[in-house]
Amino acid sequence: MKIVMLGAPGAGKGTQAEMIAAKYGIPHISTGDIFRYNIKNGTDLGKEAKKYMDEGKLVPDELTVRLLLDRVAKDDCKDGYVLDGFPRTIPQAEVLTKELEKQDAKVDFAINVDVPDEDIVRRMGGRRACVNCGATYHVVYAAPKVEGVCDKCGSKLVLRDDDKPETVQKRLKVYHEQTQPLIEYYEKKGVLRTVDGTRDLHEVFADIAAILEQN
Ligand code: ADP
Ligand code: AMP
Repeated sequence: MKIVMLGAPGAGKGTQAEMIAAKYGIPHISTGDIFRYNIKNGTDLGKEAKKYMDEGKLVPDELTVRLLLDRVAKDDCKDGYVLDGFPRTIPQAEVLTKELEKQDAKVDFAINVDVPDEDIVRRMGGRRACVNCGATYHVVYAAPKVEGVCDKCGSKLVLRDDDKPETVQKRLKVYHEQTQPLIEYYEKKGVLRTVDGTRDLHEVFADIAAILEQN
């Protein structure tokens, strides 16, 4: 099963992708997480990506597409995957479609997690990410057991640089201009499913599981 998560930054794509990956035993692939891992490790890719990420801009397609294609070519992806944060532009989606066509495959579901901009701004201010493993929390809606400490690895939780309010506004603008058109792109392919992302995260997941199991 090949799944693409769509939605604004902070809509809950990562949260839901993590739950999908755990329930269906497929890898959760987040281009944002891959970039952050590279930044943390000081790689050339990380240095290049950081320039764009800190400004709330998208990393250029060329760089992102190469990274994603390398990742989905790995062995653990042969039974499918859930993509979180990719594609983010029409050219990225086209590359993915063409690559899958070569293997006689396609995206089975594009799950659009729908959340209005007002809710996004509130959510991003409360998001906390682990400096070590990247796990995501929310100070109110998905709090860790001990404040400021990651449940999974015990490392420190921080507000991501790009979750500061000024950058969030820029990221939302970029989302509406460059990423939202993907909703129509996947709708035309007949694989779009929209869920109301404003509800409790377990309710959102129940809707997604029902969609994935409908065939
Ligand atoms: P994205 O991957 O789309 O950027 P995240 O999954 O990181 O979004 O979610 C953004 C923030 O909102 C996180 O702090 C997360 O814990 C919280 N969150 C996710 N889903 C919900 C929900 N249904 N209700 C409230 N908060 C949520
Ligand atoms: P995310 O963790 O998905 O919110 O992504 C964080 C940042 O990484 C984005 O604001 C972009 O700068 C960059 N990024 C992640 N995925 C992509 C992508 N598919 N295309 C371009 N930039 C990306």
